[in-house]
Amino acid sequence: MSQTTPASLDFDPADPVTLTQALIRCPSVTPAEGGALALLGVVLSAEGFSVERPVFSEPGMPDIENLYARIGSEGPVFVIAGHTDVVPPGDLTAWTRDPFSAEIEGGVLYGRGACDMKGGLAAMVSAAIRYRRANPDAPGSIAFLVTGDEEGPAVNGTVKLLDWADRRGERFDHCLLGEPTNPAAMSDMIKIGRRGSLTGKLTVQGIQGHVGYPHLAQNPIRGMVRLLAALDAAPLDAGTEHFDPSNLEVTTLDVGNPATNVIPAQARAVFNIRFNDLWTPQTLATEIERRLREAAGNTVRYEISFEPTNAVAFLTQPGPFVAMVADAVEAETGKRPALSTTGGTSDARFIKNYCPVVEYGVVGQTMHQIDERVAIADLVTLERVTHRLLATYFAAAQHA
Ligand SMILES: [Zn+2]
Repeated sequence: MSQTTPASLDFDPADPVTLTQALIRCPSVTPAEGGALALLGVVLSAEGFSVERPVFSEPGMPDIENLYARIGSEGPVFVIAGHTDVVPPGDLTAWTRDPFSAEIEGGVLYGRGACDMKGGLAAMVSAAIRYRRANPDAPGSIAFLVTGDEEGPAVNGTVKLLDWADRRGERFDHCLLGEPTNPAAMSDMIKIGRRGSLTGKLTVQGIQGHVGYPHLAQNPIRGMVRLLAALDAAPLDAGTEHFDPSNLEVTTLDVGNPATNVIPAQARAVFNIRFNDLWTPQTLATEIERRLREAAGNTVRYEISFEPTNAVAFLTQPGPFVAMVADAVEAETGKRPALSTTGGTSDARFIKNYCPVVEYGVVGQTMHQIDERVAIADLVTLERVTHRLLATYFAAAQHA
C-alpha cells in the first residue's frame, strides 16, 4: 500500500483549491498510487464515509489501487466517479513550474492532473463534503468510485471496481463523472455519451522483385492504395441526432523498404474509427470487410484484423437527470451547456452498464500538456455546480 498515507489533514477538504493542490502533490502517474487515493480515503473517512480500497490484478500487469466510498445506506445512490492517476509530465525542463508542486499564480493552479482530473475530482469531493455537513440527515446516499487506472490500460480500474461493487450488492441510480468536458468555459458542455473506437490492421501481400522486371513481381502498395481509397471513398454515415458522423482515420502506413530498386513484398496499414450509435464494433467490422472485399476483387491479396475493443458508442438519453445537470450548470454559469458526445472515450463507457451517466468537469484545454493548469474560478464553479446538483437531486428524492 501507499507509503504516504497522511495521518491527519492540515487543511479543510471542503475547499476545492487546497484539496486539488494536495492531490497534485501526490505523484500518481499510472500505475503509481502516489498517495492520492490514501489522501482521499483519509478525507472521506473523516466526513463519515465508509471507505474501501480494493486492489485489482491481472497477469502481466501492475496491480492497481482503487477507492470506493459511500455515505448513507438508502437509495437513491448518487455516484461521483473519477480517477486520480495522471499521465507522465514529459520533459520536466519544458514546464515553467514543478508539475507536482501545485503552484498558484495569477488565479491559475499549475500541475499534472490539474484539469485531468484531480481538479474535477477535488471539486466534487469538496461539494459532497459541504452538502453532507449541512445536511447530515439527507435522504439517499453519495458514493465515490475512484480508480488509479484510467490513463493506463484501464483494465484494473473502473471496469473491475464496478463489478466488485455490484457483487457486494451496491446499486447505483445516477452517476456524475468529473472528466474535463469544457472546451473553453465552464458553461460550454456536458457529455451525455461517447463515440466508440475500433482499430483495424490491414496487410496487403505482394511478390517481391526487381523494379526493372515488374512482370515478375507484384507491388502490394498498389493494392493498399486501392483498398484505403475504398475505405475513404464514402462516409460511413451522416451522423445522428446526438452524434457527429463516424470517422475513419488511417493512422499509419508502412512498407519498410529501404531499397529504391526493389518492389516490396508486403504493405501494412492501421486505421482507427470513432463511431456513433448507428454501429456496434461487429456491424462496423462487417461493413469494412465488405468494402475491402469489393475493392480487392480477385487481384488484391489482403488480411484484415480488428483489435478487441470495449469502447462502444453509448448515449444517456436526455431526460430529467440530464436536464438536472444542465440546470445546475446554467444556474451557476448563466448559460445553458451543450449536450455533447464528442471527444475520446472515457470510463463512462463502463459506468453506463450500471446507471445513467453524465460527464461534466473543468476546462480541458491543457490536459496532458506541458504546464497543465486550471483556473481557481473554474474549480469554485465546479464545486458550486456539483453542490447545487446534489441538493436538487436529493430534494427531488425526498419529495418523490
Ligand atoms: Zn481523465
